[in-house]
Amino acid sequence: MSEKVDIRSMDRQELKAFFLGIGEKPFRASQVYQWLHRKKADSFASMTNLSEGLRQTLAELCRLDAFAVAERQVSRLDGTRKYAFLLADGNIIESVYMKYHYGVSVCISSQVGCRMGCRFCASTLGGLVRNLTPGEMLGQIYAIEKDTGERVSHVVVMGSGEPLDNLDNLIRFLRLVSDEEGAAIGQRNITVSTCGLVPEIYRLAEERFQITLALSLHAPEDALRKTMMPIANRYTIREALDACDAYFGATGRRISYEYSLVRGVNDRPGQAQQLAALLRGRNCHVNLIPVNPIRERNYRETKGPEVQQFKKELEKSGIHVTIRRRLGADIDSACGQLRRRIQQEEGREEAE
Ligand code: SAH
Repeated sequence: MSEKVDIRSMDRQELKAFFLGIGEKPFRASQVYQWLHRKKADSFASMTNLSEGLRQTLAELCRLDAFAVAERQVSRLDGTRKYAFLLADGNIIESVYMKYHYGVSVCISSQVGCRMGCRFCASTLGGLVRNLTPGEMLGQIYAIEKDTGERVSHVVVMGSGEPLDNLDNLIRFLRLVSDEEGAAIGQRNITVSTCGLVPEIYRLAEERFQITLALSLHAPEDALRKTMMPIANRYTIREALDACDAYFGATGRRISYEYSLVRGVNDRPGQAQQLAALLRGRNCHVNLIPVNPIRERNYRETKGPEVQQFKKELEKSGIHVTIRRRLGADIDSACGQLRRRIQQEEGREEAE
């Protein structure tokens, strides 16, 4: 049996070619594209303006995953929701819904697991299982829109996985999600975060997307960064910053540098000054994230007053700084806390 076509991952051109290939008129492709990306259909049976026969043919030839919600947790503190979705192959991925004054933002995963090995992050603990397809990245957004009845306005690719380790699928996803005739989420409302895969940053820059690139920096010098992030053994901070400069040069989009503050490790005022020196002269933005402790590691978060001091130190050098609000603290939905398994807890059954 030949493999089924992953129809949610196809762009308009590919869909047209596919429909011609099965002897259908091109306008059918447009209709199906609308069903998939406007109405967020997750079955061919629901595509009521297609003939019964065509719906059956499509169901035979194509896969169209309905994202089963394996678990949904709603924060009592701020309404943030963490979803665990069961994929067609039995894997589980997590996505987060966040409500802001400017709209609804969804944090999506780009891989099942991750192979980057950052010391502070739960998503990498079991290594990489597989890449997500473009359709599976979109599917997280669509399933959340269905579940909440709200339209997603912003997307951050900051869930499980390293998006630039799955670059081809990421690029296809970015084209689809921002397509005017499809999901139509503006590129300026999309952020992709990377631990710093240098060649891939240059490749992404070539696409000239208007998305925001966020670099996970977390240390002002290489020796310390190596103790936190294995990727620092492959590329120096200088190389990563050069790549980010190239990204800014190609797109005009200001880079966002993420810096997770770990108590006693990277949060001293002297390190803030080092960071300021590193970023001097760049049109950029620093996002401070008090690290979210995970139980397998002993990193602890920097406390409020020290976070403020670190921020002030950077601001002295004219750097634009924000502190990331921690949403969904009661449901483990914060940065670095997403996993590919539902947590075994008292009174809760695993879905697997
Ligand atoms: N792989 C990508 C995107 C996923 S993580 C990357 O590395 O950027 C999104 C952000 O959360 C990154 O900046 C990451 O370093 C940070 N992060 C991971 N674990 C964290 C934790 N436990 N506390 C705070 N931030 C964390």
